[in-house]
Amino acid sequence: MDQRDGWIWFDGELKPWKEAKIHVLTHGLHYASCVFEGQRAYGGEVFKLREHTDRLIASGKTLDFDIPYSADEIDAACRKVLEANNLVDAYMRPVAWRGSEELSVPGRPNTVHLAIAAWVWPSYFSMEEKLKGIRLQWSKWKRPSPETIPYKAKAAGLYMICTLSKDAAMADGYADALMLDYRGYVAEATGANAFFIKGKEITTPTPDCFLDGITRRTVIGLAKANGFTVTERHIMPDELANFDECFLTGTAAEVTPVSEVGDFKFTPGEASRTLIAAYSAAVQPKRAAAE
Ligand code: PMP
Repeated sequence: MDQRDGWIWFDGELKPWKEAKIHVLTHGLHYASCVFEGQRAYGGEVFKLREHTDRLIASGKTLDFDIPYSADEIDAACRKVLEANNLVDAYMRPVAWRGSEELSVPGRPNTVHLAIAAWVWPSYFSMEEKLKGIRLQWSKWKRPSPETIPYKAKAAGLYMICTLSKDAAMADGYADALMLDYRGYVAEATGANAFFIKGKEITTPTPDCFLDGITRRTVIGLAKANGFTVTERHIMPDELANFDECFLTGTAAEVTPVSEVGDFKFTPGEASRTLIAAYSAAVQPKRAAAE
């Protein structure tokens, strides 16, 4: 990943990709004082850019730091990164972290940095390919209680159990893992939210201890507009037997149907098909009709 050509926006300037480096004694690396975003550009425009930028700034505040750029400046920097790298359809990764002035638990003595990278991360499986669905393993790790972690932040430290869960699932031949929460309710996958469907009724876990994804909220809106009812509630794992379809949502995952969660089987069908199509239409930039 570090040996490519291209440009990374780094503390206000574009740096050659291979030179965008930080010191090994960086606070963000040792103590996880680091927040980030995952966003996608479609047709040259970042989908819901301001929502991602606002979440990045809010995540920093949750970790008790201010990113030293305004939302307008961050948005402009994202656009500049796309342009500098000649990218139209891309995944983008803004990341903010505490620097390397002082390496011990207190974070405040350190300067806050911001970098933004972008690269091609294709999502272009055909509808038929997507509708085969992916297989999920149950994770042995539980999403912790809101009193344990600042769960609304998209913060690096919260991904430790996601990486452990995903690596374990992949080592066993699964695509991803589904985590329960500290109470035993179904929570989310390692980088995406989960939805369960029976006919025209969609049920999704209440995001009270995990990220309420921007894609999740978009898909809820699209589902309602397409005649589905959407219920947010706590779901026990045994209830998965009552649903016909399941899909994940996330910036990287978009709408990804699921065929298995442990012993539960699903058949991606009408709801998955409708929402994959609705989401891929929604992310395209809305340009004036004259263009
Ligand atoms: N949960 C986790 C743990 C994630 O990393 C992501 C991806 N950001 C999501 C959910 C989905 O969030 P979004 O739709 O905003 O990408």
